[in-house]
Amino acid sequence: MCTMESLRVLELYSGIGGMHYALKESGIPGQVVAAVDINTTANQIYRHNFPDTPLWNKTIEGIPLDDFNKLSFDMILMSPPCQPFTRIGLQGDIHDLRTKSFLYILDVLPRLHRLPRFILLENVKGFETSSARNILVKTLMECGYTFQEIMVSPTSVGIPNSRLRYFLIAKLATNNLSTQTKISDAHLHPSEYDSSELPTDLYPTHTSTCQPEEDLQGGHVLYKLETATDVQRKMIQNNNLSVRQIQDFLEPQMEANLENFLLPPKTLLRYALLLDIVQPSSRRSVCFTKGYVRYVEGTGSVLTSCMETEMEHAFTHLDQCSEEEKLKRLMKLKLRYFTPREVANLMGFPQSFCFPEQISTRQKYKALGNSLNVVVVTKLLQTLLS
Ligand code: SAH
Repeated sequence: MCTMESLRVLELYSGIGGMHYALKESGIPGQVVAAVDINTTANQIYRHNFPDTPLWNKTIEGIPLDDFNKLSFDMILMSPPCQPFTRIGLQGDIHDLRTKSFLYILDVLPRLHRLPRFILLENVKGFETSSARNILVKTLMECGYTFQEIMVSPTSVGIPNSRLRYFLIAKLATNNLSTQTKISDAHLHPSEYDSSELPTDLYPTHTSTCQPEEDLQGGHVLYKLETATDVQRKMIQNNNLSVRQIQDFLEPQMEANLENFLLPPKTLLRYALLLDIVQPSSRRSVCFTKGYVRYVEGTGSVLTSCMETEMEHAFTHLDQCSEEEKLKRLMKLKLRYFTPREVANLMGFPQSFCFPEQISTRQKYKALGNSLNVVVVTKLLQTLLS
């Protein structure tokens, strides 16, 4: 790897530059020759962190073939919009307008003067069964790529955060043989997947279904609206010593300006039972989405420094308490949101990553929620180049 020449990298749907950070962290010699995104806020953040990278604020489908050719890139890193494929979305797939730019890329690829040697694509769970995925695979095979499809969550690289994503890494075959490699990965051991995120065997048989990540059907509800299955899963996750503790990802001195991040009384009263609560000693947290803080249910975990027994005490027969008593109990838990910096930490962003001053807290959560886990992509890039 050290003798390799610097790769020219094209970063499509660049967002806040999660892919760019992964490239840097991977140690692979390379430079991003162009990053493309249409989101103004994301672009401000990107530019703040990578002032020297050419950032094109234009739609991908508006870029002519010739401009791609001029870039003469060796690698494409891309995270196409995931909304057409999410399980909670309408699954519009290739009929969704947001897939248009991706189909355009697949149309451009075979017509390039020179095919890039490497491609890495990230998307949500659900993409693996889409027509867009089938067109992608067909295009890659016709162009002579070998590839692997991998479902992986940050927990398998030791980070206490669930973010199960689909990845495809492709390499241009040098022997002209377009062979499909099996899904197996030296760096990402299947045994390290947490129980809620068993790897999906993607190829050749499609066994994956659209089940929710968190199985809601298993058993009756205990306190906090949790089923016995939920409780057990969380216990298994918290006992997985290959995953680090939440406390390693927290900002120091947070106790001082905790107020800004405490959950307001209204939220506590209305949504207490729906919260996913973790502690500094936990080895798990749920996926942070772009709606974190703005919406409560399923958008990310909240934090308490209280012990399990105190939690149990607060929640036992909570529904039978008066509003006043309820609030009193819940306030004791000092539940707070993770700060944007802490979310960035859990998403594997290096300390050097920062936000420009004019970006609001809500915008920060939104931008991070759309991004990816940098450590996961770093490992995948190393696998691709090894
Ligand atoms: N990997 C990125 C996030 C990608 S999210 C990160 O680390 O932040 C998808 C991004 O695609 C969004 O930022 C969105 O603005 C951009 N996008 C969607 N459609 C696009 C199009 N047609 N042309 C250019 N960018 C587009």
